[in-house]
Amino acid sequence: DQSLCAPLPVLGSDVTVPLVTGGDVTYAALDYAASAPALKRVWDDVAAYAPYYGSVHRGAGYLSQLSTDLFENSRATVAEFLGCRADDQVVFTRSTTDSLNLLAAVLPAGCQVFVFETEHHASLLPWRDARVTCLDAPRTPEQAVATLERALAGREPHGPALVCVTGASNVTGELWPVRELAAAAHAHGARIVLDAAQLAPHHPVDIAELDVDWVAFSGHKLYAPFGSGVLAGRADWLREAEPYLAGGGASRQVTRRADGGVDVQWHTTAARHEAGSPNVIGVYSIASACRALTEAGFADLVAREQALVARVRAGLAEVPEVKVLSLFGDDAPRVGVISFVVEGWNSSHFAAALSAEYGIGVRDGLFCAHPLVRTLLGSEPQEPGECGAPEAAPGERSLNAVRVSFGAGTPDEHIERFLGAVR
Ligand code: PMP
Repeated sequence: DQSLCAPLPVLGSDVTVPLVTGGDVTYAALDYAASAPALKRVWDDVAAYAPYYGSVHRGAGYLSQLSTDLFENSRATVAEFLGCRADDQVVFTRSTTDSLNLLAAVLPAGCQVFVFETEHHASLLPWRDARVTCLDAPRTPEQAVATLERALAGREPHGPALVCVTGASNVTGELWPVRELAAAAHAHGARIVLDAAQLAPHHPVDIAELDVDWVAFSGHKLYAPFGSGVLAGRADWLREAEPYLAGGGASRQVTRRADGGVDVQWHTTAARHEAGSPNVIGVYSIASACRALTEAGFADLVAREQALVARVRAGLAEVPEVKVLSLFGDDAPRVGVISFVVEGWNSSHFAAALSAEYGIGVRDGLFCAHPLVRTLLGSEPQEPGECGAPEAAPGERSLNAVRVSFGAGTPDEHIERFLGAVR
């Protein structure tokens, strides 16, 4: 389609890898859901900044001032990218996992947490000190909303409650009805955090328009590969809780008490949860990626990716042995994340063959979403094999799946090579 935009330039597009069949081939990175390649633009921005590198919030020198400005301006860029409300805070973390663990650490006493069993482990597991209700996997978006409403209606009223939900599944790529789930949560006095690890790289996320209380995402899935993440949203729980990490940068004033103890006043800004010297390269690269996606025209990138999604779905549908995994049905809207099993194939061997024979990088396994993948495959928990994921014996139902995922940097050739290899 001539009207579609070109893929964005990314690093690694000219990397060649050896094939077992002989010769080299350019690497086809089709594992964006794990880590997306860096945008060249992000790399260039970081390289241009690197000579001016200095400590953030910890120096009087010119380069320290510059780094501090870049760091704080990055916060403003991310807030704009997410459509944050005026009083929202943007806290920089290491990753989505870190962001959700931070939120878990600041829950008010007695908070009830509601999660679907379909969540990534980063959304499913951090709520250890809370009373967690794990909801059954819905089979339609409407059922998701109804299931949540039923659970919230049965909760103890008046106490604090939090719903944690993914925006796009890291297994099926399916979009979840975030706006409707947020409305249900709020109608029952609960709050909601959106795990946007897979949504944000593929779809604009507007925190105010979705009316979610917090959003979490990772830089390395948003084409910014430097170990940084974001938790953005309501300031009150963040401001009222003890810091996630105690240390320098989080404290406004520290005094020695007469009895030998130590008193501390903590910051009430995002700095409260950012103790220690921050990852300025990571934060700057997230802001650079946000700017690059916006300037390239995110809507155009989404349109192009959706054309690739349609092409992959149509191509896989031509192969009778392939079964695409889906909770909400084959036609459900989804981002460029598609998991499948191939009859007669062990998924790990299939993924290994795509790599060794075609130079295609995908992922196989249970994708840190064990309950969801078992639901989709109709399998029971198994003792993990030596190499992690359990392996089905020949002729048995697959115990894991293959996942292909792509995005703003994916050329058509990678998709065609993948479909050819599957065929
Ligand atoms: N949530 C979802 C939906 C994910 O796909 C992932 C990463 N696979 C995470 C959370 C965790 O992200 P990270 O590993 O960057 O912490």
